[in-house]
Amino acid sequence: MSKPLDSRHAVCVGSFDPVTLGHADIIARGARVFDRLTVGIGINPDKRPLFSSDERIELMRQVLEPLENVTVASFDGLAVNFVRDCGAAVLLRGVRSLMDIESELTMSLTNRSLAPEIETVFLMANENYSHVSSTLIKQIARFGKDDAADRLRSFVPDPVVAPLIAKYRDGASSA
Ligand code: ADP
Repeated sequence: MSKPLDSRHAVCVGSFDPVTLGHADIIARGARVFDRLTVGIGINPDKRPLFSSDERIELMRQVLEPLENVTVASFDGLAVNFVRDCGAAVLLRGVRSLMDIESELTMSLTNRSLAPEIETVFLMANENYSHVSSTLIKQIARFGKDDAADRLRSFVPDPVVAPLIAKYRDGASSA
């Protein structure tokens, strides 16, 4: 029989392309609620990310370095399989809006039917970051002028600013 899953260990999954202040806030709060938190960076073959999985892992590690009970890994395939492989009983997600709740509800019901032993837990976004998305910050980096770096600092952690601007300066095409 396989080992029981740890209900004090949560896994926060997402694309994190790249990590924003909204993500970092959810992860830091999750790390206070659970004994252990793993951040799972999903590799989706149907999406063309701006940052490679190695780059996303590296940025996430820099941002979360002060959090001692948090580790970062990438995964492909189903999120619930990754959560189970980590030995965790909880899948942690953040919700920003009613639209998020609607899509998260569908996803959590599907995940429950795939893995009833894993519980999805939601944290409401911090009101300061509920409008922040990776898509929005990529547009600021792409179309912003000389003040793009200053503007980005309100949306992404410091280690992300320069690599994000460099992506577009170096001619990235995806947004
Ligand atoms: P996905 O493609 O799986 O939605 P994301 O990287 O966009 O991945 O998001 C990962 C998780 O973080 C999701 O649960 C998402 O709802 C949550 N999230 C995204 N942006 C924010 C934000 N600004 N505040 C709080 N949670 C957020």
